[in-house]
Amino acid sequence: KVRVRYAPSPTGYPHVGNIRTALFNWLFARNQGGSFIVRIEDTDQARYVEGAVEAILDGLRWLGMDWDEGPEKNGAFGPYFQSQRLDRYRAAAEKLIAGGHAYRCYCSSARLDQMRAAQEAAKIPTGYDRHCRDKCEPGPEGVTPVVRFKMPLEGRTYFNDLIRGEVAFENALLDDFVLLKSDGFPTYHLANIVDDHDMAITHVMRAEEWLSSTPKHVQLYKAMGYEPPVFAHLPMILGPDRSKLSKRHGAVSIIDYKNQGYLPETMVNFLALLGWSLDATTEIMDVKKVIENFSLDRISKTAAIFNIEKLDWMNGSYIRALSLDEFTDRARPFLEAGVPEAAAYDRDYVKSALALIQERVKKLGELRDQPELTRFFFYQNLEYHAADLVGKGMNTALTRQALQATLDRLEKLEGFGIEAMENDLRPLAAELGLKPGQLFGCIRVAVTGQSVSPPLFQTMAVLGKDRALARIREAIR
Ligand code: GLU
Repeated sequence: KVRVRYAPSPTGYPHVGNIRTALFNWLFARNQGGSFIVRIEDTDQARYVEGAVEAILDGLRWLGMDWDEGPEKNGAFGPYFQSQRLDRYRAAAEKLIAGGHAYRCYCSSARLDQMRAAQEAAKIPTGYDRHCRDKCEPGPEGVTPVVRFKMPLEGRTYFNDLIRGEVAFENALLDDFVLLKSDGFPTYHLANIVDDHDMAITHVMRAEEWLSSTPKHVQLYKAMGYEPPVFAHLPMILGPDRSKLSKRHGAVSIIDYKNQGYLPETMVNFLALLGWSLDATTEIMDVKKVIENFSLDRISKTAAIFNIEKLDWMNGSYIRALSLDEFTDRARPFLEAGVPEAAAYDRDYVKSALALIQERVKKLGELRDQPELTRFFFYQNLEYHAADLVGKGMNTALTRQALQATLDRLEKLEGFGIEAMENDLRPLAAELGLKPGQLFGCIRVAVTGQSVSPPLFQTMAVLGKDRALARIREAIR
């Protein structure tokens, strides 16, 4: 049975790369009917960031990536926080020492600094010089040692990567890396392989940046007498300029995407395509379809390009596909954050206003950040300058005359239908010697306070006859 894990370090808020890793593991587990495990790799006390675990779990929950074992869940292989498994790592380190695969190193940091400086000056690769490798115990008194791995000095370490094929590293270039630090905490390498073994992980799917750690892990598995899992290193994610993905490309913590009003279903679809594809053309796929079709052999070797414009396009498309009710529910919190007055209106009214907006937004956050999209539906009083009313190529007197004539016509109109309004006002423009755009521009400012709005007659219909006419009256008062 497939068992995969997402093993974040709580050293910051999860970004696109982390979440793509989580997603691929989750998709694979769901496709295979396997288990998706979340393990928090919190052994680096110095880099621990308060609130990061919550942010990681919130991100997973937001995207619908449920985990079978991990924080907040019971599981047969817990605890799922490495800081609660320290005894296991210490025992493993002892076992490695006893088996002759590891040794205690008493080198002071001053000595290590000197060593490194000398290596740099001589332009030779830096790395531990194995000073303590063959020294007898015990070491100097009062010094707490670290434990280092005894890397084979010759030969090569091979492993098969599901995505990259056979990979080989020269052992001579691999360091006698630290397994256990002097504070008794394990390094990533030791804790990672002990847990992947103890938790019966079958496939390790992680970012390409870990590829160079894998030979160390392979050697560790061997020394521990463990069977290594299958490895699959996911392609890097680059910006459109092919440089490392960064804030500059719009890539930020996953929670920021939520705050900007990207839909979770968009994010899942978009992230799934960062390194995986169904075929050469399909872009829009719901999560069910992705799960059904997800397979490791369609993960690419080449870097994936993160394109924020594509994300925006995709989100707009998901937004347009929502029912109006669904759109209203999701948009409302954003709307009320930007236009608090909207909270006072009933749902049907809000819905009719949002119906005019749904086609136009790419992110729900636009409703909050651009109150001008909707505020005229909800404000009691519009604020604009009298000069704004004056149409292109018109003067104040002509504008007042045009608005008065509009008012007279609309007052007589039966109901307030969109077509009826238009049929009434187009001829009026001609009678006044104006282009329709000139007349409609004046009316638009009178009823919305702005020169840009959704289609005029639809907007007026939502406002309703009383409100729309009152605003025109106000404009010529
Ligand atoms: N804790 C590592 C990370 O932050 C896990 C790497 C791995 O999956 O082995 O990404």
